[in-house]
Amino acid sequence: MPPDQEHPVFPDLADKTIMVVEDTGSSRILVSGLLRGLGVGRVVTAADGREALDKMTALSLRPDLVLCDWVMPNMDGLELLTRLKAQDPGIKFVMMTVKTEPEAVISAKQHGVDGYIAKPFTRESIINALRKALGLPA
Ligand SMILES: [Mg+2]
Repeated sequence: MPPDQEHPVFPDLADKTIMVVEDTGSSRILVSGLLRGLGVGRVVTAADGREALDKMTALSLRPDLVLCDWVMPNMDGLELLTRLKAQDPGIKFVMMTVKTEPEAVISAKQHGVDGYIAKPFTRESIINALRKALGLPA
């Protein structure tokens, strides 16, 4: 039985790898569970940008999409975005943050962000961002 009868699971997500980068453990668990429930084939987590880069190297991992908090210790979301886009412009990156002031959004866009989710997030806001960033059928 699918995890949620009301909303269809997205079959197009079955072959996707998404990395969730978030320093708050409860949010990390919540978001990863939501993604798995939507049908994402592989969900990898990291607690900050530094750990995200380390895991990508250690696992030879190239996620289809990185879903990332902005404010984190060690390496924040904007720096991770900048580094990833510099080495791999095709990697999809969605920022999920309480930082919604225009300057922040503009700055993220200038660094190539593919989507922006305001916290507190909803299931719908995550689905919409994934749809746009990964080009899923509506
Ligand atoms: Mg944070």
